[in-house]
Amino acid sequence: VYAPPIQELVDELGRLPGIGPKSAQRIAFHILKSPAEDVSRLANVIGSAKVRVTWCRHCFNFAEAVAGAEGEAQCEICANPRRDPSVLCVVEEPRHVVAIEKSGWFKGRYHVLMGALSPIDGVFAEQLRIKELLTRIETEGVTEVILCTDPDQEGSATAMYLRDRLKELPQKVKVTQIPVGLPVGSEIEFADELTLARALEDRREVS
Ligand SMILES: [Zn+2]
Repeated sequence: VYAPPIQELVDELGRLPGIGPKSAQRIAFHILKSPAEDVSRLANVIGSAKVRVTWCRHCFNFAEAVAGAEGEAQCEICANPRRDPSVLCVVEEPRHVVAIEKSGWFKGRYHVLMGALSPIDGVFAEQLRIKELLTRIETEGVTEVILCTDPDQEGSATAMYLRDRLKELPQKVKVTQIPVGLPVGSEIEFADELTLARALEDRREVS
């Protein structure tokens, strides 16, 4: 239907999450109608974000890359000495860090698993940053771990798995979870800030 360059653009955009064929076409046509300098600014911003953003070496949140020092990046939260290192909030994705930070309630640090267990999709414990989590607990003086995975099937399975692994640790660590009062299936990132802050405050010890 489209000339090849347009088709390629529509196909690429259609691969983005949440962009169906209609949206892909609308964005492609918008781009093609836009002034060349706007389009090249967008292309540059995408390319430079990809180069300048990497993962925090401690918590696997997004972090600004350090030029010439691969694997040395540190996110703003880990770099902040006022954040309590004894409490770790475990989340699935960096977007959950953003959601919890917006609630303004949490003063500890995070650990981003980079996904949730989903054997059907080939995501097993080894693919997640679980080994790194256990190492941090053992070496950083962590006394409480708040499991803040999503309340969906994968998130719940991940939390259950982590509870078992944390029990095996040589030192005692308090494991808490936010109450299921957060409406079932409502993802952490869509909960409003007050609800999320309350849920975190009402967290319960689970093991
Ligand atoms: Zn970090």
